[in-house]
Amino acid sequence: SSERKSRAKAPVFMTFDDIGGQDRAKRELQEALDFLIRYEDIKRLGIRPLKGILLTGPPGTGKTLMAKAAAHYTNSVFMAAAGSEFVEMYVGVGASRIRDLFKEAKARALKEKKESAIIFIDEIDVIGGRRDGGQHREYDQTLNQLLTEMDGIHTSESPRILIIAATNRKEMLDSALLRPGRFDRHIDVELPDKKGRLHILHIHAKQRPLAETVDLDAIAKETFHFSGAQLESVMNEAAIYAMREESATISQQHLSLAVDKVMLGEKTDRESTK
Ligand code: ATP
Repeated sequence: SSERKSRAKAPVFMTFDDIGGQDRAKRELQEALDFLIRYEDIKRLGIRPLKGILLTGPPGTGKTLMAKAAAHYTNSVFMAAAGSEFVEMYVGVGASRIRDLFKEAKARALKEKKESAIIFIDEIDVIGGRRDGGQHREYDQTLNQLLTEMDGIHTSESPRILIIAATNRKEMLDSALLRPGRFDRHIDVELPDKKGRLHILHIHAKQRPLAETVDLDAIAKETFHFSGAQLESVMNEAAIYAMREESATISQQHLSLAVDKVMLGEKTDRESTK
């Protein structure tokens, strides 16, 4: 059973090639990551080490995938957390969780003999919201702890630590987070254009039996404003339609129905949250 446990814990292997579209964002991220890889040069030239990268953009565009690919690209340990996990009734719990996260990242890197660790924090706005309005005061300690940990990162230290945070509400972030030496590198992860959508559809079609007559280009045209997550849903729903019809392959008709279903689903979601 310990074997099963370790297999379940094994990180999902993700590379930049598994991410559709996002050419500019991927390039910018790789350029930034080269700073982590070329740390000897960074040290020699006296360049300030890169500590934090902020990924911004709408939900489901691949920010988490990017962080995972970053870990693979730099041969780093990958740790993930979400801002909401640090929200607690009791003062100080969030701060100690931040401390533990950094400790665990270092310990895992040492154990796995990796030179660096990437800590991914999704929904950073939950702990890093603006403090000027007097709101979120109870999260101050958590945010302060994160800033303290980041300020304590040095290039000479091994393993090297990089924090990648994601938000879809950049304007909500406290300016303390965005200062030089903190999250000073911002990368926009936008909704994919038609070419990007086609690429994403191709990626998610790989493991699925499509009929030879399927025209993914037409689907990419129909799915204006869809996120990567929605395009993945389209493929999944189309496969479900195929199964219902006892069809061996996924047809254009199944895909079109799935597009409608995902589009409609989004609408009802939005209406119900009004
Ligand atoms: P959120 O802000 O909601 O956390 P996110 O931007 O982190 O979203 P991901 O969690 O990375 O989005 O994406 C969710 C899923 O959608 C992925 O597991 C993948 O199946 C699909 N997906 C999203 N973007 C892409 C993409 N660019 N290429 C391929 N698949 C994608």
